[in-house]
Amino acid sequence: VRARVMQIDHSPDVTYADIGGLGDQMREVRETVELPLTQPETFDTVGIQPPSGILLHGPPGTGKTMLAKAVANETDASFIKMAGSELVHKFIGEGAKLVRDLFEVARENEPAVIFIDEIDAIASKRTDSKTSGDAEVQRTMMQLLSEMDGFDERGDIRIIAATNRFDMLDEAILRPGRFDRLIEVPKPDVAGRELIFQIHTRDMNVDDDVDFAELAEIAEDASGADVKAICTEAGMFAIRDDRTEIRREDFEAAWEKLQQDDTMETGDSP
Ligand code: ATP
Repeated sequence: VRARVMQIDHSPDVTYADIGGLGDQMREVRETVELPLTQPETFDTVGIQPPSGILLHGPPGTGKTMLAKAVANETDASFIKMAGSELVHKFIGEGAKLVRDLFEVARENEPAVIFIDEIDAIASKRTDSKTSGDAEVQRTMMQLLSEMDGFDERGDIRIIAATNRFDMLDEAILRPGRFDRLIEVPKPDVAGRELIFQIHTRDMNVDDDVDFAELAEIAEDASGADVKAICTEAGMFAIRDDRTEIRREDFEAAWEKLQQDDTMETGDSP
């Protein structure tokens, strides 16, 4: 069961340079995750405990997973990922055990960064905790909290959680000593989108007429994941047209297509 829900990556390939436009967030992640792993003595000397867990929150596809992977990579830590939804929905009744396993695997792979995606699945405010499904979720969350409460003895393990639904979180997990460092990861602004376009086209054969500043303006409201999708799709348009060079019109068509797909998915179309 362990192997199927836990993703262990001994050297994730994401670097800080792969992340566009999240300077402040990167600084904070480095300070709270990297420093305790690389210079634990600094915290001893100063006489403070590093923050226990950090919580990244913001819309889907904005780089939360990337941030966690990058900090693991840059500190030579293993990256151990689990999704909150899998903890409770995939193996009913196993949630608490999986949480125990998660920390055990982290200890075996120190230094390690534990990344719990969709933390809201095990830690949302409940309206009715009497149903059995909720009781299971509750047990899973209690196990996580108790693992975190014994955290200072854990040495080289840092824990990062992520959610798209910050407003739904149970405040119990945000208390001091738990996920007490909150970092908002918003969608990129226009400058951020331009950087992300540059990052994702690094290996692409892009025509000189392509202006990323202009594309960034056009792709208003796009997330980092959307920008990546535009780049891939633009490449597909070029291939379909039997070209090996990607032109401005390919990027524009890709953005159009992505918007249409989105409208279809969300059912916004008339
Ligand atoms: P979710 O909440 O859906 O899990 P997330 O915030 O964890 O999303 P990521 O998985 O980090 O998002 O991003 C998805 C992909 O989108 C990345 O693999 C990357 O290709 C691209 N991407 C997202 N944000 C950025 C960014 N700031 N810079 C560069 N690429 C980005």
